[in-house]
Amino acid sequence: MATLLCGTIEAAAQRPQTRPSQTDDRHPVATDARLGGDERQTRLVMDLTRKIELHAFTLADPYRVVIDLPQVTFKLPPKVGETSRGLVKAFRFGLVMQGGSRMVIDTSKPVRIEKAFVLDAADGQPARLVLDLTATDRESFLRTIALDARPARTPVESKIDRDPVNKGDPRPIIVIDPGHGGIDFGTQAGGEVVEKDLVLSFGLLLRDQIEKTGKYRVVMTRSDDSFVELGDRVRMARMRKAALFISIHADSLKKGEGDAQGATVYTLSDTATDAEAARLAESENRADVIAGIDLSQEPNDVAEILIDFAQRETKLFSNHFAKTLVTELRNVARLHKHPLKSAGFKVLKSPDVPSVLIELGYVSSKQDLKALTSDTWRARTAGAIVQAIDTFFSTRLANTGRPN
Ligand SMILES: [Zn+2]
Repeated sequence: MATLLCGTIEAAAQRPQTRPSQTDDRHPVATDARLGGDERQTRLVMDLTRKIELHAFTLADPYRVVIDLPQVTFKLPPKVGETSRGLVKAFRFGLVMQGGSRMVIDTSKPVRIEKAFVLDAADGQPARLVLDLTATDRESFLRTIALDARPARTPVESKIDRDPVNKGDPRPIIVIDPGHGGIDFGTQAGGEVVEKDLVLSFGLLLRDQIEKTGKYRVVMTRSDDSFVELGDRVRMARMRKAALFISIHADSLKKGEGDAQGATVYTLSDTATDAEAARLAESENRADVIAGIDLSQEPNDVAEILIDFAQRETKLFSNHFAKTLVTELRNVARLHKHPLKSAGFKVLKSPDVPSVLIELGYVSSKQDLKALTSDTWRARTAGAIVQAIDTFFSTRLANTGRPN
């Protein structure tokens, strides 16, 4: 972490002073946001450095208002969006894809979008996004959704198509899945360390270490700070006929939820091994809700798992890899007191790709956080995962006589 920080400062110092920050130049900046009103009518106002286009719509179960925007740099005060007011429970914002940002507003009850527009800067006031919501009943709310035509799917599918399987290369494909991204921050520790950044940098490091062996091909579900739906993460692995899927996360506990520490490896099961596993799966499965995805439009190719031979075999391989991982990780990292667990994680639902989810540790634990942000710990831990991958593939080949 310290090295990383130094690097950033150095880079900043070397940048020519005449050139302003590129991000601010290219994208409008949101500088402040506030809520006003009551339980009947609530207004959200966000200050912007210039006028932009927007598209606002509502989603049910849970009740949400989504505002799609061109890419915006959010420089809002800390904790903005965390306090409820009137009809708004909370709101969040961030990138959903390159060129596109989004705000997702959780509402306490069904609402109607009365107005949604952006005012030009005038009279010393900045450009302002204004959203007016009024309370309505569920029936009218659902009617509006039915009438509201919008594209059913995000552009992630085309991202998969652009990058087909390299047929000439016989090496097994390993999918590395850094959790969260973009508008979905994951867990946060004191506002400083964010899970989405932590798991992305670890995922990239792991990719480099795996590629260095020359034995495998690596596909990242994301290699930047963009949002990817849970179902698309699974689809990417399945379409490429991946031999292994490794999802990377970091957990966090609220005050009073205990003081668990260490890494845990999860596999898929219908019934969670314990209450903590159930809580975690529920919170990790919320990613799509957080990002304002319409769950009623989710294709069920992933949601419905057929219990067939392939899946039972996949389950055996997943469990075998999970055990191997725990053995290797034990040598280098501190593990949770029950390091092998299972629960109903959506990203682990490929019927044909052995899949595990690694919680590297708890950002809420001082000791874990220190490890998670240490270059030495990360390199060692990634090394242990590579070791487990090697063991997995060598024993798998020996057992089945089947490549990949
Ligand atoms: Zn997570």
